[in-house]
Amino acid sequence: RRVLGIEGTAWAASAAVYEVETDGVTIESDPYQPESGGIHPREAAEHMSEAVPSVVETMLAEARAQAADDVGRAPEEPPIDAVAFSRGPGLGPCLRIVGTAARAVAQRFDVPLVGVNHMVAHLEVGRHYSGFDAPVCLNASGANAHVLAFRNGRYRVLGETMDTGVGNALDKFTRHVGWSHPGGPKVEAHAKEGEYVDLPYVVKGMDFSFSGIMSAAKDEYDAGTPVEDVCRGLEETVFAMLTEVSERALSLTGREELVLGGGVGQNERLQGMLREMCEQRGAELHVPENRFLRDNAGMIAVLGAKMAAAGDTLAIEASAIDSDFRPDEVAVSWRAGDSE
Ligand code: ATP
Repeated sequence: RRVLGIEGTAWAASAAVYEVETDGVTIESDPYQPESGGIHPREAAEHMSEAVPSVVETMLAEARAQAADDVGRAPEEPPIDAVAFSRGPGLGPCLRIVGTAARAVAQRFDVPLVGVNHMVAHLEVGRHYSGFDAPVCLNASGANAHVLAFRNGRYRVLGETMDTGVGNALDKFTRHVGWSHPGGPKVEAHAKEGEYVDLPYVVKGMDFSFSGIMSAAKDEYDAGTPVEDVCRGLEETVFAMLTEVSERALSLTGREELVLGGGVGQNERLQGMLREMCEQRGAELHVPENRFLRDNAGMIAVLGAKMAAAGDTLAIEASAIDSDFRPDEVAVSWRAGDSE
C-alpha cells in the first residue's frame, strides 16, 4: 500500500509518498519565506495555493514510478491507496487549500481520504521510527509546545504553553533584533558564541509561559547586552523549562521513553539537554531525522497509513478543516486494544 500525504498548516507546502511495505518515505517541500516580518496568514495561503498543487504533482509522479514496479498491480489501478492531509491545527486559509487539494486527489483516484491531526503526526512519526511503544512526547514546534502521553485511547496533554508557541517566541525575539524568519536557527548559531544571561523561568504546574521571557529578552537586547548572550540565555532558559516538564512527565507516568517532535526539536542544545536528562534517569530518547522534525508531509503520510489501515477515513462532506484541532480531541483508532 502507498499513501499520499499533504501538509500545509503554516509555512511548509509539502507532499510525500509513504510505501507501507518498504517503510520508505519520499518528501517534496516548498517553504514559504516571508519577505519581512513573520508568517503572514494571507501570504502563506497564497504560497500554498501555488506550491501545494506542484508538490502534489511531483509526489504523484513518484507514486506512479513506484507503482510501476508493483507485482500484480493492473495498469488502470490508482498509484496510491489513500490520501492523508493535515486537518489542523494551523492557519485556516492555508488548511483550506490543503483540504481542497486532498479532496480533489482522493476523488480523482477514488481512494479514501484521511484527516490527520498535525500535532499527533509530529509525535507518531517519532514513535513509528523509534519503535517505542508508549513514550512521553515533547512537541516543540513553531506555534505550539506540548508534552503528551497516550492513555485510554487518547494522547493526553500533560503540559502545554499558556501563551505563544516556543518557536514563535524565538522568532518574535529575532524579529525585534532585525533578523529574517525563521529565527530559531539564528538563535542557535549566535548562542554558541554567547555568555549566559538570566531570564525569567516560567513553569506553572506542568505548563509553560514564553511571553514574559521574550519581553525580558527584548529588554536585555535594548539595554545593550550582546545579542549572543541574550540568545544563550534564551536557549538555556526555554529549553530547561521544556526539559523539566518532560522529566516530570516521565516521572509521573512511569514511562522510560521520550520522543521529540517539532521544528524547534532540530536544535542541538535542546537535544543535548534532553539526552542528558534521559541518561540520568535511565530513560531512552528518540530524536527523529530533521526532515521529520520540522513540518513535513512524511509524518502526515505515515500516520495517515495507520489510520487508513484502521478504517479511520473521512467522507468528503465531513472533511472540513479544524484550525484549533487539539491533539487530545483525536480518538486514537490505530492503537486499538492499547489502553495503557
Ligand atoms: P506547528 O507544528 O506548531 O504548526 P510550525 O508550523 O511553525 O509549528 P515547525 O516546522 O514545527 O512549524 O517549527 C518551526 C519553528 O522551528 C520556527 O519557529 C523556527 O524558528 C524553529 N526552528 C527551526 N530550527 C530551529 C533551531 N535550530 N533551533 C530553534 N528553533 C528552530
